[in-house]
Amino acid sequence: MPFVEQLHRARLKVTGPRLKVLQAFEDHAEQHLGVEDVHKSMQTPKERASLATVYRALNQLTSAGILRRHVFALGHPVYEIETGEEHHHLVCVTCLRVDAYQDELLKETVDERRRKVASTSGYAIARHELTLYGQCPRCRTPAKKPGRATVGL
Ligand SMILES: [Zn+2]
Ligand SMILES: [Zn+2]
Repeated sequence: MPFVEQLHRARLKVTGPRLKVLQAFEDHAEQHLGVEDVHKSMQTPKERASLATVYRALNQLTSAGILRRHVFALGHPVYEIETGEEHHHLVCVTCLRVDAYQDELLKETVDERRRKVASTSGYAIARHELTLYGQCPRCRTPAKKPGRATVGL
């Protein structure tokens, strides 16, 4: 669905910052972006969006259900376009990169365990997340310098 239509459906006004934030997700190969990534991709020689503007747009789009926000154990928020599909995440503790992963066998196992937990706990379980932390292939290659210091968990 085009972004303009998504904003209309969410009853949000179509504003420059909102469109540019959504465009940032379309322009990046990665699905999961931090505030800094979005901010960086919104800068043009002609226009500089403030960090406050980026935060505001991200919050509004998240409240409207167009974006999904995650705060992994590393503490910084990561956003992705809300597709309604469940997937799990791999998080690099060195460069803070986030990747999605799907594994059918894992999904079946988790779905089965989830039903079990639901029946023993009495909870109606709406969703679940499974996050694996480690080092991404880039950070594991010693020739390349890691982007940031490793975060201790
Ligand atoms: Zn990494
Ligand atoms: Zn994701």
